[in-house]
Amino acid sequence: MNLPGKEYDIIKKEILKRKPKKILLQAPEGMKTSVQNIAGRIRALGPKCIIWADPCFGACDIPENPAKMLGSDFIVHIGHAQFMDTKEIPVLYIECRSDADFSKVIESNLSVIPNKKIGLVATIQHLGAIPKIKGILEKNGKEVFIGKSKRMKYKGQVLGCDAGAAEAIEDKVNCFITLASGKFHALGVAKKVQKPVFLANLDTGKIESTDKEKLLFEKKRILKLEKLKDAKNVGILVSTKRGQLSNTDDLEKKLEQKGKKVWVLAMDYISPEKILGMKLDILINTACPRIEEDLIFGVPVVNKGEII
Ligand code: SF4
Repeated sequence: MNLPGKEYDIIKKEILKRKPKKILLQAPEGMKTSVQNIAGRIRALGPKCIIWADPCFGACDIPENPAKMLGSDFIVHIGHAQFMDTKEIPVLYIECRSDADFSKVIESNLSVIPNKKIGLVATIQHLGAIPKIKGILEKNGKEVFIGKSKRMKYKGQVLGCDAGAAEAIEDKVNCFITLASGKFHALGVAKKVQKPVFLANLDTGKIESTDKEKLLFEKKRILKLEKLKDAKNVGILVSTKRGQLSNTDDLEKKLEQKGKKVWVLAMDYISPEKILGMKLDILINTACPRIEEDLIFGVPVVNKGEII
């Protein structure tokens, strides 16, 4: 994926205005092939540019401490909208929008959505598709609602850990359609609301229900909570990424009161090999919910929000 010209113009304008000396540049995995090109163009404007090569989780993953250690005075974060306030080093968020067109998926699958009142949500990359899809749905007799999360910058925007845009309008709609790539965000919405949630899937060209995944998630959650009851050694995963950092004092206390041995396992980038060899029966994840979905730890992992 390349960075469009108008995003370069924003970077250029900010650099000329702020005159930073050393920029820390952070880009999503999908842009790693063009990150050197972006860094080169930044360098041509005057400042030094360091590429932050660690994987970028999302909007909450701003490398503030590394930037300080590296002597950077400005962070350029590509791919997400502003999500958290940064304290010491200014951050320029460069949002990337996809030009993927969901119209065909929606138009050819309208029969899948018999409901009249529809809530529309999207990931930041696909927010631009909302007006067109809203128009198509309305032309076909649907009433479309778009909510807003208090923590999000835009109406309709959802994150894997924030479905506030859907929750805000749940009582007005019969179902939700999520415009996203992959089921992670649609399932994130489904976990938070009681109404049916569909994904407009560009890969399959279909509108897909998340009911099966939600049911499976619920079954697994119940099993994991049973495991937690019997567990003797409980690990709590804590990420030192500021946007994911959680205070675990209360959780530790609660678990200890239940007779558990509790081990707080702190790291910046959470990955299974870092805790290999430790004696643990279950893990409680306090960081990004994606960790529980994407990584295999050898013991069950339950997200903190799912147990309290
Ligand atoms: S915690 Fe995970 S889902 Fe939430 S913003 Fe961060 S990366 Fe995205």
